[in-house]
Formats: sequence, C-alpha cells, structure tokens
Amino acid sequence: MQKQVNIIFFGAPGAGKGTQAKKISHELKLPHIDTGSLIREAIANKTELGTKAQQFVESGKLVPDQLVIDLIREKLIVLKDKNFNGFILDGFPRTILQANALKSLLEELKLDLAYVLNIQSPENILVKRLSSRRLCSNKSCGAIFNLVTRKPKEENKCDVCGSPLYQRKDDTEEAAKERLNEYHNKTAPLEKYYRDQNKLIDIDGAKEPEEVYNKIIKILS
Ligand code: ADP
Ligand code: ZN
Repeated sequence: MQKQVNIIFFGAPGAGKGTQAKKISHELKLPHIDTGSLIREAIANKTELGTKAQQFVESGKLVPDQLVIDLIREKLIVLKDKNFNGFILDGFPRTILQANALKSLLEELKLDLAYVLNIQSPENILVKRLSSRRLCSNKSCGAIFNLVTRKPKEENKCDVCGSPLYQRKDDTEEAAKERLNEYHNKTAPLEKYYRDQNKLIDIDGAKEPEEVYNKIIKILS
C-alpha cells in the first residue's frame, strides 16, 4: 500500500480551516471529510442523524459526541476499503472524547495521524468573518464568499458558477457567538492534547488566504 497522509484541520469557527481544507484536498487529491457539511446534508435529507442534530447545529451548539463519532467511523471504514492515499478531517475531533475515539478508530483501522494543522486567528475577526460569510448554493461548487473580504462580483451570485448565494443559519451573530463559546469550552483543550503529542503545527490564519495556503503546501511537501 502506498504511503498515506492523514491530516486534521483544527481551528476556531471562522479561522478559515474549511476554505483551506477544501483547497488542499483538491490540490493533493485527498478526500475531504467535512463534518459540518456532512451534518448539514443529513439535516437537509431529514435522516435520523439530521433530525437529532438540527436543533444543536442551528443554535451553534456542538452535536452530541456519539452521533459525530458514528458518522466519522462510517466514513473512514468506507475510505479504508478503497485503498485511499489519505484523508483530510475538517471539523473533527472537537472534544477530547472525540479525539480519544478517533485514536482508537485509527488504531483499529491501522492508520496513522500525520499532522494537526492549527489555523489560528484573533478572536475579534472571527465573529465578523462568520456573520459576513455567504456560500454558493450549488453543492458541487460550494464556493465561499465574504461580504467584507471576498465580495462576489455580482450581488448574491456565485462568481464561479452563477448560482445564488445563501447565509448559513448558524452564521447569524447570535449563533456564531455560541459556536465560539463552544469552541473555547470544549474544543480549545485539544490544542494542548495534540501539542503534547508533537502533532500540532501552528499556522497564522490572520494572513491572506493565498498566503495561508502557500504556507500549508510548503509544510506538507
Ligand atoms: P464551523 O467550524 O465554522 O463552526 P462547521 O461547518 O464545521 O462550522 O460546523 C457546523 C456545526 O456542525 C457545529 O456548530 C456543530 O453544531 C456541528 N458539528 C460539526 N462538527 C462537529 C463535531 N466534531 N462535534 C460536534 N458537532 C459538530
Ligand atoms: Zn458556485
């Protein structure tokens, strides 16, 4: 089997980890496991997971651990069967309990975790970034815009594919603040968890997206 590169993208909501994970997954041809999108898809499809998760997601709360752990477990088992070259985990783990579950799962599947990229952004820009974020409604495009820093050329229209843009329900100011709260209380402790294992690589997420991207590519090569 060829060498695998398994990476976690870690950071506060609005740090830019989703944008970077998407680009890197494209560039390195690694499957992008985007936990938030998987959960939103489940909500849209009204699956059992979606129904259980909806109220948490829309209010900015973390979804109960076991629901997310089962979801990721399923994804990794399917990938493992495909003789894959690695994966990018985006938005998982977000609690110590999830991190421990991931550790056991990787051991069980005989997979190694290569890096945890810690995308750091100052607190004051996070809420602003989230509440001005707009997304392309075309799922196969998924381009991300920002009314302040990356304005679409035409109002409410995707530059890439022309589809209408929308705002996520949890990108309102109130829900965004709750997401940051959850991050500080439940997710931030993972920084130390992975730093103590020498897995964490700090990346300055306050820089321009292009610069952040180049930095990540350099680290991974
Ligand atoms: P962001 O990182 O910007 O907050 P995501 O799209 O990654 O956005 O996540 C959106 C929401 O999905 C979270 O606020 C939470 O409700 C749910 N979610 C995503 N990943 C997890 C996880 N690992 N554990 C629990 N809930 C999660
Ligand atoms: Zn688009």
